[in-house]
Amino acid sequence: MEIVALDEYLGNIKVDFVKMDIQGSEFAALKGMEKMIENNPKIKILLEYSPLCLEESGVNLKIFLNYLNSLNLSMNVLWEDKPMQPVTNEWLLQNCGVKKKNSHLNLFLQNIEEPYKPKIMICSRCVSDTTISDIVFNQEGVCQFCLMHDLMAKKYPLDERSDRELEALVQKIKASGKNKRYDCVIGVSGGTDSTYMIYVAVKAGLRPLAVHFDNGWNSEIAVRNIQNATKALNVDLETVVADWEEFKDLQIAFLKASVSDAEIPTDVAIHGVLHDVAAKEGIKYVFFGHSFRNEGIVPVSWTYMEGKYVNSIHKKFGHKKITSFPNITLWTLFYYRVIKGIQCIPFVNYFKYDKLKVKKLLEEALGWRYYGGHHHESLYTKFFQSYYLPKKFNIDKRILEYSAFIRTGLMSREEALRELNAPYPYEEDAVDYVLGKLGLSREEFNQIMSAPRKSFHDYPTYYPLLRFLKPFIYVGFKLGFVPEIIYFKYFYKT
Ligand SMILES: [Zn+2]
Repeated sequence: MEIVALDEYLGNIKVDFVKMDIQGSEFAALKGMEKMIENNPKIKILLEYSPLCLEESGVNLKIFLNYLNSLNLSMNVLWEDKPMQPVTNEWLLQNCGVKKKNSHLNLFLQNIEEPYKPKIMICSRCVSDTTISDIVFNQEGVCQFCLMHDLMAKKYPLDERSDRELEALVQKIKASGKNKRYDCVIGVSGGTDSTYMIYVAVKAGLRPLAVHFDNGWNSEIAVRNIQNATKALNVDLETVVADWEEFKDLQIAFLKASVSDAEIPTDVAIHGVLHDVAAKEGIKYVFFGHSFRNEGIVPVSWTYMEGKYVNSIHKKFGHKKITSFPNITLWTLFYYRVIKGIQCIPFVNYFKYDKLKVKKLLEEALGWRYYGGHHHESLYTKFFQSYYLPKKFNIDKRILEYSAFIRTGLMSREEALRELNAPYPYEEDAVDYVLGKLGLSREEFNQIMSAPRKSFHDYPTYYPLLRFLKPFIYVGFKLGFVPEIIYFKYFYKT
């Protein structure tokens, strides 16, 4: 067979890309194209790196890799299932070869001046990535949400201290409920977290009043879960039903505003209703079910939430007059916190909570049933998380949940990355159902989906005021008036 160097055969031509699959003859081929590489600084070369084939061709791996370095090209592994990864000689010698993790790899060489920039950067500890626009990483590549988690875990440790702290908290709440019908208000949605919270509260000897905000989107399972759990635990239940026409108008307004915070009318209303019931009943404690260990910390860029924002979106895109929506504005917050003296308690942070075991326990003890996805107890949330956010905003909320699980050791990072490789599963029926119930035509919905993305910065909110009040909020946080999770979410490292 006649062998000729590429430099001789092709002469001085312009080359952008070279792909070779030549079973161990790469060293010789590269040597024959040195001029080509030199004359084409933007050249990209894809070759198979197979230690077995190279060695069978009499090539010393270390010498070959040193030679690749001398070409002044950056070395990257092109994976089938994950972003391209820059690698070193040492890494290749350790990770690729006979009886190693990889018998061969696709190596992608390109100009060192334009190193491969992955589109997505992922936290080295969890799976939070640059789809979160306000994510920052420290020198070790760890995101701020992992660091916030560590601070929260320090504040709410789960060891012998936590049992004592939980006991002290329960005693304090019981004392405040003396001669009253209830000790605390607990919001229930039919989901795992809130159901378990009420279970633990009752087992600890508290007399909670369960409050449910029905925004019209409950799944049947959720309704049954709430009824079964409160009945089994002998807890009174108060259900506050939203004025559907009003609530629908708000939900459509948020969709038309083209913001990723489109689920906050529900979240704000839940807070509003819980505080309103507590104020009327003279109850001093409202438990909230958010668990930093199980749900993580929601980035501000994904969900910003407060009453002025709700009002300004409604003013711009709503049609109906809002009269009964239980909004939380600075004034209502002042009324509940200062005048009524109601405190919010992150109750779930005080006890150990293995979500898988808890699901089993709730099924057995309370006749509770799982509904197939985080917060899918609401049909709107299911549509929102599985379709609206991923398709319009490239937001995959599983990232937050899986990241939280990784930090608490309930899931491995590899497992989470594998799961996230598949898109968020959704059901077309769920989309049809939501459009039908909101009375939106496909055409209107397509307009919503294709409208340019906006954020809360595009609308009047309390945000500038919050930034201005930061020193006072810091004092409130230090004195325990501002929950840590809220303080960290809005002010950590900014
Ligand atoms: Zn992280």
